[in-house]
Amino acid sequence: MLIVGKGTLITLGPNCRVIEDGGVLIDGDKIAMVGATKELQAAAPEARMIDCRGRLIMPGFTCAHTHTYSAFARGMALKGELPANFTQVLERLWWRLDQALTLEDVYYSALVTFAGCVKSGTTALLDHHAGANAIAGSLEQIAAAAALTGIRANLCYEVSDRDGEAKMQAGIEENVAFISKCARDRSPLLSATFGMHASFTIGADTMEKCARMAHDLGTGVHLHVAESRRDANHSRAKFGMNIVERLAAYDLLGPKTMAAHCVHISEQEIERLAETKTNVAHNPQSNMNNAVGCAAVKKMLDAGVVVGMGTDGMSTGMIEGMKTAHILHKFCQGDPRVGWDEVPRMQFDNNARIMANYFAQPLGQLQPGAAADLIVVDYDPPTPLTAENIYGHMVFGMTESAVETTIVAGKILMHDRKLLAIDEEEVNAKARELAAKLWERF
Ligand SMILES: [Zn+2]
Repeated sequence: MLIVGKGTLITLGPNCRVIEDGGVLIDGDKIAMVGATKELQAAAPEARMIDCRGRLIMPGFTCAHTHTYSAFARGMALKGELPANFTQVLERLWWRLDQALTLEDVYYSALVTFAGCVKSGTTALLDHHAGANAIAGSLEQIAAAAALTGIRANLCYEVSDRDGEAKMQAGIEENVAFISKCARDRSPLLSATFGMHASFTIGADTMEKCARMAHDLGTGVHLHVAESRRDANHSRAKFGMNIVERLAAYDLLGPKTMAAHCVHISEQEIERLAETKTNVAHNPQSNMNNAVGCAAVKKMLDAGVVVGMGTDGMSTGMIEGMKTAHILHKFCQGDPRVGWDEVPRMQFDNNARIMANYFAQPLGQLQPGAAADLIVVDYDPPTPLTAENIYGHMVFGMTESAVETTIVAGKILMHDRKLLAIDEEEVNAKARELAAKLWERF
């Protein structure tokens, strides 16, 4: 048993509480008790104590959409002219990068990403992987990196027709093999979804095959939906329907499906997403960086769509994305009221709902029975902190580098800012060596 106590406890969840000199009692991989430190000590006098005086204790952050494979792009120079639109960003950067990856690159890209997640307090994520010349076994590589760092992950491979039929087929087989393995292993830390890249790189035959497999395996799909206007236009021109309608035609909407982005969708599509309880991941920094547009998150949330927050590989922590979303939607809508309600709903309420579709244990809140995924943050508030104003402290005061200790499933992954499972210097040195070689092949 372990007590993480003597700090300011923020439970989050539907009945969010702030408890001074509070903490949690952890039994195995779950929270056994939440409350004042004295009560926890009385209940488990033998338990080891992590003293969090002057610190916040809160649930780990969750990320609803990311790409570990993008890690080696950091600092990489593009050849030729800079991409002038999103299609060129894909063709000149991401698709070339994914084609250059080896299985070892996949492993180290995941390792450095997950190390970054642990350091910035992200404890669970949904990853969307591509790597056209190293498909078979790639999800096992990411899973091995997740197991070593201790993070909770849901993985999939992005099936696409863009690299030809053999790669498309290999992508399907990779998803099938990995989903089957996860179903056998039933690890609370690792799960799988059927991945697809995006509507505009998936033809009718491939969509049919993926849908059949996902249905047979009992999973949803994870794909990009209408990230750019091109994706939305392509579906209408080629298939005579919007992307969400196209997915509905294959019975692919629902609470196990993750539709990342949804920047260019219609009111009818928003209604379909809401009534089918399909998950959406909003990635504000990525959308701005790719200049693809501003997703109508307020409209989606008002309609009842489960919109959560992802990073799309832009960062490993979630606070930066929250800060961006907080100001982006005010700016886009010309309304300073937007953000205060929407961003915490996406990051906390909806990400917790989304994670519940992919992991067995409740995440994103500290309550008895929930997963023991939590962080200790070195943040001493200079103004009163309450259950009602935590969000304001997060976007205007907290930083990801203030995360000191990270615990997943009751296991301490980082303590006093030191990663316990990996030698970070060694991992970074190896990653730099591999990235330099990849940049030569790129
Ligand atoms: Zn993405």
